[in-house]
Amino acid sequence: MPFANKAEERAYHREWERKRWQDPGYRAKKRASGRAYYWRNAERMRERVKQYHLAHIKEHTARITKFRKMLKLKVVIALGGKCAICGYAKCLSAFDLHHINPAEKERERDWRIKANGDKIKHLQLLCRNCHAELHHPERLDSLVGNMDIRKED
Ligand SMILES: [Zn+2]
Repeated sequence: MPFANKAEERAYHREWERKRWQDPGYRAKKRASGRAYYWRNAERMRERVKQYHLAHIKEHTARITKFRKMLKLKVVIALGGKCAICGYAKCLSAFDLHHINPAEKERERDWRIKANGDKIKHLQLLCRNCHAELHHPERLDSLVGNMDIRKED
C-alpha cells in the first residue's frame, strides 16, 4: 500500500478530485452521468429521499423551529427590543409584530427573507397585551361591570 493510512488515502483522492473538478468538461460529464443515474433509478431515488425525510423529520422540524426563533430574535432586536407602547422587554414569545399599514401585510415574506433595514419599516414591535388592546379597542373595559360572569361558573 502506498498510503500510510486510510485518512491519507482519502486526502489524496479528495485532492485529485478537487483538481480534476476544475476542468469544465469533467464537471459536465459528471453531472450528466449523475442525472442519467437518477432518471434510470428515479422511482428508487424518490423513495430514498422520502425515507430520509421520514427518518429525519424531528431534526428537520427542530432546525426550522430554531431558524424561526433566531429570525424573530433578529427582527425584535432590529425593532428596538421593547414594546413601542409600554416598553415591555422580557419574553421573546410575548412579542407581536404589528403591521402599521394592514395593506402591506402581503409584504411579510420580505422580512422573513431579510430581516433588516427598510424591509421591516412597516412593522412595529408590540407586546401581546398592547397589540390586543390596539386591535380590539371596543373590548378595552369589557371586564368592568362583567366580573359577576366569573362567579357564575
Ligand atoms: Zn406593551
